[in-house]
Amino acid sequence: MNRQELIDILSDDKKNTKIFEKADKIRRENVGDEVHLRGLIEFSNICKRQCKYCGLRSENKNIERYRILKDELLVYAKNAINLGYRTLVLQSGEDEYFDTDKLAEIVKAIKEFDVALTLSIGEKSYDEFKALKQAGADRYLLRIETTDKKLYEEMHPNASFENRMRCLYDLKKLGYETGTGCLVGLPKQTTESLADDILFFKELDADMVGIGPFIPHKETPLAEAKQGDFWQALKVMALTRINLPDINIPATTAMETINPNGRIIALQSGANVVMPNVTSTEYRAKYEIYPGKICINDNPDKCRGCIENKIKSIGRTISKEKGFRKNN
Ligand code: SAH
Repeated sequence: MNRQELIDILSDDKKNTKIFEKADKIRRENVGDEVHLRGLIEFSNICKRQCKYCGLRSENKNIERYRILKDELLVYAKNAINLGYRTLVLQSGEDEYFDTDKLAEIVKAIKEFDVALTLSIGEKSYDEFKALKQAGADRYLLRIETTDKKLYEEMHPNASFENRMRCLYDLKKLGYETGTGCLVGLPKQTTESLADDILFFKELDADMVGIGPFIPHKETPLAEAKQGDFWQALKVMALTRINLPDINIPATTAMETINPNGRIIALQSGANVVMPNVTSTEYRAKYEIYPGKICINDNPDKCRGCIENKIKSIGRTISKEKGFRKNN
């Protein structure tokens, strides 16, 4: 689709059902009915950045900070693998305690298990990305958040749009399966820029794209901003599937946070991945990037069972593979 077609669809809700059905069909034809589960470990909520939308921003003093060190982290990793996960995702704020040596040690220890490993720990230099790849990391998630440079800079004080882009192209160059994505519904975000986001995913040849609605957090400068629209976020996701047929697309937790059936609706509108939390209950509420996060009182066992039942209830199956991008 070209830019104008994307803009037309994004600004017209009458075609929504058709777009969701088309994305579902393209998903089935290209990546099949299997759903890949990725076990998410949120290992530190300490962050040096000030992203205006995020509850983990360093200026938020009203949050209990934690970091999970290697030995404890490995317990969650092992437990998740025992529950059947074939991919683990390590996510955190930009926490400088975890330097490249510490991270590489963790990566190596996890790669001793037969599992694919994704990192989602923010911006790094080329050499740092390279060292972590050499340690064994397979994939990296770093959302561009928005391709509107002006909006990007407004949302991310003291950060550079060019550096975020540089990171994504470095990750591709280093052979990571590279995930990116955007927020939908940021203040002042336009449909034109959402169309550009989708064109960017294609330009980068992203291997994975995660889309979620913006959800205002009261301890941020965007406390009073309007929440992103579920259906608009779903439409950006569906259009991403239509334009990048063979990639991995998660039904994001943020979708389920603003719509009680959000992940199932997403799985039926183009998504083929779910990322259940495998961190122990005590940390879940503290990793509050946005409010109302689901499953904060649950444990890894319960989350696994719950999502399996939901997936089976719509006639889909759970993959037993590591779930790399199909055509890679
Ligand atoms: N520090 C890492 C991980 C960030 S958390 C990094 O920079 O990549 C993962 C994602 O949560 C972010 O990329 C962002 O898109 C999303 N997020 C943060 N705050 C949010 C909010 N208020 N509403 C919805 N999604 C949010």
